[in-house]
Amino acid sequence: MNRTGDRREELAANLAALRRRIADACRAAGRDPEEVTLVAVTKMCPASDVRLLAELGVTDIGENRDQEAAPKARECSDLDVAWHFVGQLQTNKCRSVASYADVIHSVDRVRQVEALSQQARRLRRTPRLLVQVDLTASADHRGGGTLGGGVPPGQVTQLAREIAKIRGVELAGVMAMAPVAEDPNPAFARLADIAKRVHATDPYATVISGGMSGDLEVAIAHGATHVRIGTALLGARRPDVG
Ligand SMILES: *Cc1c(COP(=O)(O)O)cnc(C)c1O
Repeated sequence: MNRTGDRREELAANLAALRRRIADACRAAGRDPEEVTLVAVTKMCPASDVRLLAELGVTDIGENRDQEAAPKARECSDLDVAWHFVGQLQTNKCRSVASYADVIHSVDRVRQVEALSQQARRLRRTPRLLVQVDLTASADHRGGGTLGGGVPPGQVTQLAREIAKIRGVELAGVMAMAPVAEDPNPAFARLADIAKRVHATDPYATVISGGMSGDLEVAIAHGATHVRIGTALLGARRPDVG
């Protein structure tokens, strides 16, 4: 079998196992698997992988760097997939990201939203935005702007209200990563609570983006609507990058 065939088999097997994990987690939580969107995070992987995943039925593709995502999205523009930007978003990248991303998971500043809105309106697109929450313990004692990105829990509803007022973009919900090397349960429980408060201010903000390869079951137990999966689907990335 050729290399593409091998990769296709590998991705198909990984995808089947992943779908089973998601279905099992949903069953355990008394939820319908239809409620959970799998976002395949293809960072460090070639556009050919995106193509194979699309052929295998994956509808949502995630990327974390504009430099890599922009050309990949262009190369795959014939595919019927939604593009999710999940990485830290520098203000000077907003114009580019707004030109291809359908969902942006990492919003943590009004200035980004204004830049996204400007470009989105020019292109007549309406990206959906998630407020990234910083769930690290120190976030509560700091004004935000941490290494991993995200706003402290106490500032989320304020930012959500401001986003809701900006034209050309749609507030869709919240996103977070569980702090590394900690039990993800309290983090995702807290995210669910924050999501509830945001939803109370905006009934269209229904997305909870939480859960990666290592903790998707916990995230689903706490109501995640989107899981962002890299390694469990595409295999290990080189550890020094991304
Ligand atoms: C890379 C990445 C993921 C996927 O992580 P895995 O552990 O490989 O599943 C999810 N979310 C974000 C923000 C990422 O950068």
